[in-house]
Amino acid sequence: MTAKIFVCEICGKRHPTTQRTSFDGQDLCPRCLEDETIICAHCGERIWRDDNSGNDTTPLCENCYQGYYVHCSRCGTLLHMDDASYEDDDTDAPYCSDCYRQIHRPHNSYVIQDYYFKETLI
Ligand SMILES: [Zn+2]
Ligand SMILES: [Zn+2]
Ligand SMILES: [Zn+2]
Repeated sequence: MTAKIFVCEICGKRHPTTQRTSFDGQDLCPRCLEDETIICAHCGERIWRDDNSGNDTTPLCENCYQGYYVHCSRCGTLLHMDDASYEDDDTDAPYCSDCYRQIHRPHNSYVIQDYYFKETLI
């Protein structure tokens, strides 16, 4: 008899206030919270899914993305800065380890490794 009701601002449905989460000035039900927001993998801050600067597996708020993450300039993979490889010379384009290896192919050992890898897949 004392159940209080709020209206979710996303879906417009009524829910008990025990299920309310206020986020960014809006009252959300658990479902919409799940659907519309995501937790930054780096700082744990909740952000709108639309504001996700990372990807589905590594959601990032804009601050964390700009401060700690880059995209591989060859394949577009999201990388932590610590995992990025850089060319020594002119550009400061970041590469994931795979692409960095591809670029620096002349080393025979890598070619053999790649060949071996493909064989085992078949
Ligand atoms: Zn809702
Ligand atoms: Zn963050
Ligand atoms: Zn790459």
